[in-house]
Amino acid sequence: MTQTLTGGCLCGAVRFELEAAPIEAGYCHCTRCQRRTGVAASAQARIDGERLAVIEGDGLLTWWRHPDGGFEKGFCRACGGHLFSRNPDDHAQHTIRMSAFDADPGVRPSFRTFVAYAAAWEPIPDDGLLRYDERKPYQERVSPPSTSTD
Ligand SMILES: [Zn+2]
Ligand SMILES: [Zn+2]
Repeated sequence: MTQTLTGGCLCGAVRFELEAAPIEAGYCHCTRCQRRTGVAASAQARIDGERLAVIEGDGLLTWWRHPDGGFEKGFCRACGGHLFSRNPDDHAQHTIRMSAFDADPGVRPSFRTFVAYAAAWEPIPDDGLLRYDERKPYQERVSPPSTSTD
């Protein structure tokens, strides 16, 4: 029996449900995350996008795709609250901003990525988490459970 996690944006118009526990979580220090979140590092949980459902406000959920590639960013057009990022070619590869969950999602950040681009104005905490100068190497990721495709 899996607990359903819920969450949403700042104004509450966009609401989602996640039917599976997050796979892992980490902090991203890249400059894109700094710009979109307004903070030094974005805490985000990696999830199986097949288990995520946007239950309200789908019309306000906007996806921004960087012209240079990378995951597209999902946010609420009404309040600007950031919610998701995903692989535009494979929506199963998906993250949720930790701040978007209503309650404790259980998972804890276990690594820091793109620390080579960390903000000069906020030192990285000496918390013992794994650090990667760039993205986390693929082979060290946990494979999401295989699901049937449709
Ligand atoms: Zn909103
Ligand atoms: Zn980032």
